[in-house]
Amino acid sequence: MAYTVTLIPGDGIGPEVIEATRRVLEATGVAFNWELAHIGAEVMDKCGTPLPESVIESVRKNRVAIKGPVTTPVGSGFRSVNVALRKELDLYACVRPCKTYYGVPSFYSDVDIIVVRENTEDLYAGIEFEKGTPEAARLIKLAAEVGRGIIREDSGISLKVISETGSRRVIKFAFEYARAYKRKKVTALHKANIMKFSDGLFLAVAREVAQEYPDVEFEDRIIDNMTMQLVKRPRQFDIVVAPNLYGDIISDLCAGLVGGLGVAPGANVGDEIAVFEPTHGSAPKYARQNRVNPMSTMLSGVMMLRYLGEVEAADRLEAAIAGVIAEGKNVTYDMKLDDTPAVGTAQVANAVIKKLEE
Ligand code: NAD
Repeated sequence: MAYTVTLIPGDGIGPEVIEATRRVLEATGVAFNWELAHIGAEVMDKCGTPLPESVIESVRKNRVAIKGPVTTPVGSGFRSVNVALRKELDLYACVRPCKTYYGVPSFYSDVDIIVVRENTEDLYAGIEFEKGTPEAARLIKLAAEVGRGIIREDSGISLKVISETGSRRVIKFAFEYARAYKRKKVTALHKANIMKFSDGLFLAVAREVAQEYPDVEFEDRIIDNMTMQLVKRPRQFDIVVAPNLYGDIISDLCAGLVGGLGVAPGANVGDEIAVFEPTHGSAPKYARQNRVNPMSTMLSGVMMLRYLGEVEAADRLEAAIAGVIAEGKNVTYDMKLDDTPAVGTAQVANAVIKKLEE
């Protein structure tokens, strides 16, 4: 049986890393029907929107997509296509595995952390009040009236919104992930000592959910302490679950611990839909140069295979990528440890396919 998967090349370096990934996924022997879907600035002229409804429908129907990065032009007037896609499909958990592969230039070995970030609320909910507007003035007045504190009149305000519903589903996701992938521990991140009603709620829900999973160890960490612990002793962490803002920062920190953007895969997951994509952006200055590292996207493909239940193919593909990294010959410029020349994006795919055939 072939899997029908929505294939979204994106823009910038997206089409190159997606093509390399499509080739290695097919080389595993798993059969795919790719449903090609375009989003981003380039479809804006034709469709009047950077995210055509047909693309959302395709992902909704197929329930699985693999996507290249998409540029968000600064000051162009259209919102991030990535944020819109996650919102439309209610992809509430962002999963970022951060694992060291032998041969990747990094400070640590043996790091293997899964960051699960809440994707829909917190300070990123987009509920903002601009300085000097009547709406901001009303909120400032309300805070004073109900005795919640004095806000300076010349303040801009962004609301930090954390709900029980939003927290519960992402925390449950982290525990279910722990069970499904035989992981031992979940660590919840927060600053509940200061933000009692938002982070405090997240922590209370985490403690409650943890009771339902006695087979998985649970602990919590205050976010500032967590950053230090991650740098000092990253191996103590397994799965980390966090509200949106902390999750965003921590997932980049963890990617840095294991060698950076070249090997940082990801997925945005909802109850029935998953979109797999690399952590990095569209790096427009490298577009169409056959230069960048496709491994983040390939490793996102490995995650997709596991999600589809193709565990054996996923293990083989991950081992092939790890083998190419360890040899250090057929890697892109960002992974080079010696003075030998780097290879291009397509050549990395060739090397991974060759390894799969060995
Ligand atoms: P970026 O990740 O695109 O690039 C930053 C730098 O990282 C690049 O200049 C390059 O040196 C390096 N880099 C990135 N990917 C690489 C790869 N595969 N191999 C080797 N080196 C790599 O970040 P940016 O410049 O901040 O963002 C560019 C655009 O991408 C922006 O419009 C941003 O909004 C968008 N973006 C999209 C997504 C997404 O689609 N999910 C994610 C992040 C950023």
